[in-house]
Amino acid sequence: MSEPMLELSGIVRTFEQAGTELQVLRGAELTVRAGELVALVGPSGAGKSTLLHIAGLLERPTAGTVRIAGTDVSKLDDGKRTEVRRRSIGFVYQFHHLLPEFSALENIVLPQMINRVPKRTAKARAMELLRMVGLEPRASHRPARLSGGEQQRVAIARALANAPSLLIADEPTGNLDPHTADGVFAMLTAIVRQARVGALIATHNLDLAQRMDRVLEMRDGLLVEHTPVPTLPEGADPAHL
Ligand code: ADP
Ligand code: MG
Repeated sequence: MSEPMLELSGIVRTFEQAGTELQVLRGAELTVRAGELVALVGPSGAGKSTLLHIAGLLERPTAGTVRIAGTDVSKLDDGKRTEVRRRSIGFVYQFHHLLPEFSALENIVLPQMINRVPKRTAKARAMELLRMVGLEPRASHRPARLSGGEQQRVAIARALANAPSLLIADEPTGNLDPHTADGVFAMLTAIVRQARVGALIATHNLDLAQRMDRVLEMRDGLLVEHTPVPTLPEGADPAHL
């Protein structure tokens, strides 16, 4: 089996809401390995985004441990956690959040410069990523001149700019029409496999979820293996199954 890129164990997260304690996560367990795509499903308010924030080191859990590519980050101070996040984790959201004043290429160069990659190297890497997402000819375009699907492809390329161990995506195709969503998802799958990133992807799209390696459902603050509703063959009588 390939190496674990994300290991969550005993993750608890509570929020104070109007004086009462809301327990959103109650001991969630999860491992995502290199080259693996794991879908996270569940109704709105189930705690998917909260779990992604914890896995992405944007928030600390109330209890539990988080390991990124084998490193236990639970005991690290905020500065060290930020460093691990910048080097090892890429993020994709429902909306692209590209910088509007910069070209597609520059949007992929900038996160590398934050990690002090020399500009020439960063540019070459950005070009290679644009090639991988099929957008080399659009390198100099600003986001506003790209279609929704193209913007999301650039956002995916940007998320992979620093060759992360882990890719976290929250509804990455939620803002796209079904056909475009399909194309972006197929590209995302190919790039995750090739780059051997571990990918944790929250989605409402069960079709796409079922094309991933595993589907986990957020239920009562825990992650459970999602069991698809069986579809009956034409004319079958459920009473006789
Ligand atoms: P999902 O992404 O599955 O829709 P969320 O993780 O966004 O769910 O939210 C889960 C629950 O946690 C919701 O009830 C939400 O109101 C609550 N919640 C999320 N973030 C906060 C916060 N910062 N403060 C208080 N409650 C929060
Ligand atoms: Mg959410």
